Amino acid sequence: MCNCAQLDTIVNGDDEKHPLGELEELEWAPEKWATLNRCPDCGQLWHIDIAKANDIGLCIKLKNEFEWARLDVTQVRVQMMVNNHGGLSFDTCRWKKCRKNCVKGLAFCPEHAYFEMDIKA
Ligand SMILES: [Zn+2]
Ligand SMILES: [Zn+2]
Repeated sequence: MCNCAQLDTIVNGDDEKHPLGELEELEWAPEKWATLNRCPDCGQLWHIDIAKANDIGLCIKLKNEFEWARLDVTQVRVQMMVNNHGGLSFDTCRWKKCRKNCVKGLAFCPEHAYFEMDIKA
């Protein structure tokens, strides 16, 4: 039996519990560096990032193939970084003219921290 049901919606590819291995690859999207996979046991669809050198290969549960087409993995990564820091604070981002709330413990909002300050985790 597979362990899809026990896994979180988002699993890091370097986590020991990742669902890779038994999955059947349905599609490969070179522009996204990702594959769409299906579990032969339960039919669960998974987005799987093909990990590059320093990148985490994310495995993300999908409800259907439309969700795969729409999935913005960058936004998922930004959200994961925010979650790693414990969410947002009430401070205002220090980036010029930015009025968004900061990520906890940082002086910048999620987008500026991630894209400009290169805080990826
Ligand atoms: Zn499964
Ligand atoms: Zn900002």
